[in-house]
Amino acid sequence: MPEPSTPFLERPLDGLRGVGRERLEQLTRLKLQTIGDLIFHRPRRYEDRRRYQSVSLLKKGEHAAAHGTIIAQGVKKLRNRRSVFEFVLDDGSSRLHCRWWNLPFMEKYFKIGDEVCVYGKLTSDRPRTIDHPETEVVVEEEKTTHMNRIVPIYPLTDGLQQRWLRSLIASLLPEAEAAISNPYPQLDTSDLPERANAVHLMHFPEDLTDIEDSRRRLAFDELIELQISFRERRVKMMAKAQGQNCGGDDQLMKPFIAGLGFQLTESQTDVLREIRTDMRSIVPMRRLLQGDVGAGKTVVAASAILMAIESGRSAVMMAPTEILATQHYENFRKWFGALGIQVNLHTGSRKLQEENDLWSSPKNTTGSLTIGTHALFQTKFNVENLGLVVIDEQHKFGVTQREALVRKGNYPHLLVMTATPIPRTLGLTLYGDLDVSTIGKPPAGRGHIRTFVRESDKLTKVWKFIQDQITEGRQAYVVYPRLEESDLKKGLKAVLDEHKRLQRDYSKLSFGLLHGRLPAEEKNQVMREFADGKIQVLVATSVIEVGVDVANANVMLIENAEQFGLAQLHQLRGRIGRGKHDSYCILIANQKDEAVWERLSVMTETNDGFKIAEEDLRLRGPGDMLGQDQSGQLRFRFANLVKDLRLVERARDLAKELVTA
Ligand code: ADP
Ligand code: MG
Repeated sequence: MPEPSTPFLERPLDGLRGVGRERLEQLTRLKLQTIGDLIFHRPRRYEDRRRYQSVSLLKKGEHAAAHGTIIAQGVKKLRNRRSVFEFVLDDGSSRLHCRWWNLPFMEKYFKIGDEVCVYGKLTSDRPRTIDHPETEVVVEEEKTTHMNRIVPIYPLTDGLQQRWLRSLIASLLPEAEAAISNPYPQLDTSDLPERANAVHLMHFPEDLTDIEDSRRRLAFDELIELQISFRERRVKMMAKAQGQNCGGDDQLMKPFIAGLGFQLTESQTDVLREIRTDMRSIVPMRRLLQGDVGAGKTVVAASAILMAIESGRSAVMMAPTEILATQHYENFRKWFGALGIQVNLHTGSRKLQEENDLWSSPKNTTGSLTIGTHALFQTKFNVENLGLVVIDEQHKFGVTQREALVRKGNYPHLLVMTATPIPRTLGLTLYGDLDVSTIGKPPAGRGHIRTFVRESDKLTKVWKFIQDQITEGRQAYVVYPRLEESDLKKGLKAVLDEHKRLQRDYSKLSFGLLHGRLPAEEKNQVMREFADGKIQVLVATSVIEVGVDVANANVMLIENAEQFGLAQLHQLRGRIGRGKHDSYCILIANQKDEAVWERLSVMTETNDGFKIAEEDLRLRGPGDMLGQDQSGQLRFRFANLVKDLRLVERARDLAKELVTA
């Protein structure tokens, strides 16, 4: 027996009346180990058992709940040892056939005369039939819990019954409610139900609207928890940090800006002003710079780096791929070489040769820039006098990686950049601990990007168009979703096969091949040749998704576009439209599936990354939208990042009020 002092919600489930070894195993399979786990086990749907629709009105293809009496049942043996168990339910208006294929033992769970609730999709309405419905036999003595009300239907596991689980939860609820209170009672949340009441309503709503009210309270409690943890981290940092004044003195900045060959846009200048204020402060900067692909974030980062270097500090910049790190390296060497600043590259395949000499000596105070990939996390890598950390394409990293890099110095300033315009709910949740700057408008003087969706039978025409563009002097990207093993039955093309085929079919064009498995040296070589115009068509996987910048490339052909998320397509499309020429993005969808076309047509309608991100979030949810690395932070049980923007904002504001230094 647990100690009586164990708080009710933390008590283990074994020892509860009616929970034997077998039940305990089943509950454990559902990850339910304490009373609290059980109390917060969220129903996956509800069934309004106050009134049922007549079976006579049910239509084929609809999901329906019905309630009636079994008037006939039996197992029919079929050929090849197959069988079907069936019972017929009568609800007074009509009959409903319920069938289970090849599960003859189902017979023992039901008998003629049983009162049963069933739920499922009608496979036929002549006669009305549901295959493999969910069922619940009604027991007279338990009717108050399970009938004539809105009942919760929980996620189950093999062998566990709705009715049993519902009874268990119902029996624990009163004591659980007494043990639950609002987590931050000082906050005004009077428009939401009390937490204890919300828990009650989640299981046993009195009205259908109670379900959403209850969810909102529980969602708010999740969100405030997260926002408070952000806030606490921030306040702790502010207390401990001895900020480094890295505002700079314009010594390097002036010639840098003058040498750029273009003027900074107003957006860029505004953002730089915010960054300078941060970097002068004794509180280390924690800023997210977002701006759509091509908005011009790199120059802003370069300027911030110069501020640090002018202030006698060093800077580190991390990129998610070797290609991008190398591209930045070459770019920055051009920019900074002219200013006499040392630029280093540190990636998996190319470590700093003299890393120890270079970085262990505190004499090295002139300030330098090191650009790299994940390799920068390595414990060996160290930077003296680190003033600024820049992380490019932050959405490719997790928070822990960000923190690991910051810990290389003594509270350096931090600038993270992302071109995945994330919807605000996600932003506040993922980056709640950061201040946000946005580059709204891209530099002027760029050509338009036009986007088309085509079926694969138009490919010959598309290639004719690509050849025309190349004759005009332009270059093209062609992207495939997978690396090898085309699956032509499914219409899936692989980059290795297609690269060979294209070289054969269009022998006059010069092709290059780029994918993640190439050795770094080869990747760099290919990118260099593409940048120099020696390669006309770059055939690639989505490795080119981030950062790659070749202004002369104005065509992007994406095959099997249905395989990509919208946000990812937008990233890919961001590789073009960087020069003064008009650009063309052609999405080939190989399925004539309406949902696919509808999704892809979002791309033809807008170039606005924020709109696309919202749409992507709505269609795919945060996990798929962001990929593995980040979705872990977004696993809420109740909060819904698609629709809870107001709640997220409110939680953030309240957390700010609550946690002060
Ligand atoms: P991203 O925000 O996607 O990282 P980049 O920093 O790579 O974008 O910038 C895209 C291109 O725009 C680069 O070639 C860059 O030199 C150019 N660029 C940046 N700022 C300006 C500007 N103010 N005027 C003209 N071109 C600019
Ligand atoms: Mg960039």
